[in-house]
Amino acid sequence: MRKIILATGNKNKVREIHEILADLDFEILTMKEAGIHVDIVEDGKTFEENSMIKAESVYDALPKDLKGQVYVMADDSGLSIDALGGEPGIYSARYMGEDTSYDIKNKNLIERLDGVKKEDRTARFTCAIACIFPDGTKKNITGVMEGYIGYEIAGENGFGYDPIFYIDKFGCSTAQMSAEQKNSISHRGQALRAMRKEVMKYENISGI
Ligand code: IMP
Repeated sequence: MRKIILATGNKNKVREIHEILADLDFEILTMKEAGIHVDIVEDGKTFEENSMIKAESVYDALPKDLKGQVYVMADDSGLSIDALGGEPGIYSARYMGEDTSYDIKNKNLIERLDGVKKEDRTARFTCAIACIFPDGTKKNITGVMEGYIGYEIAGENGFGYDPIFYIDKFGCSTAQMSAEQKNSISHRGQALRAMRKEVMKYENISGI
């Protein structure tokens, strides 16, 4: 069975990637599960650059028996808030410090938007998926989900900034959606479904 090695240890991303790629009959392993331990220096300036940096770091560290056999996939993602000049953007995970709880980060962002009208609270989640194919071909695909920052924290599902990210069409935050609903519209869902097509083309699989 073909393997996909994920260049991430983020449990929430790994869960969503598993959900979204469930019908692709591949074994999906985190880098840790594949026995790969590398320190990744995320010093790119865009989501795309950072996702490729992660994928390349893991690809370069693949043991001999996996080289040429597996796909390496990486996700770099984040929340960009227009009224804050695009913050936290590529620094979403590091905003206020990696170890600060999302309850504190989310409250802080709502406070920073105090007095900002609803129409100016627009924001988006971006997800760049980088994939290095078994033959070394590199591809980047980006997905975007548009929404706005609400006035309160709501919902227990999802992760990170989901409790403050609302979509008008659904009248709720992405943390109030089921996993299926969020994955069907999310930045990560869009990018991964498009990358899955590229993988299928490469494998010459049809009908998945
Ligand atoms: P990365 O691991 O450097 O790509 O950081 C991604 C960060 O962006 C996550 O830790 C979250 O803070 C945020 N993020 C990305 N995708 C989502 C999502 O689907 N929901 C909520 N927060 C997200």
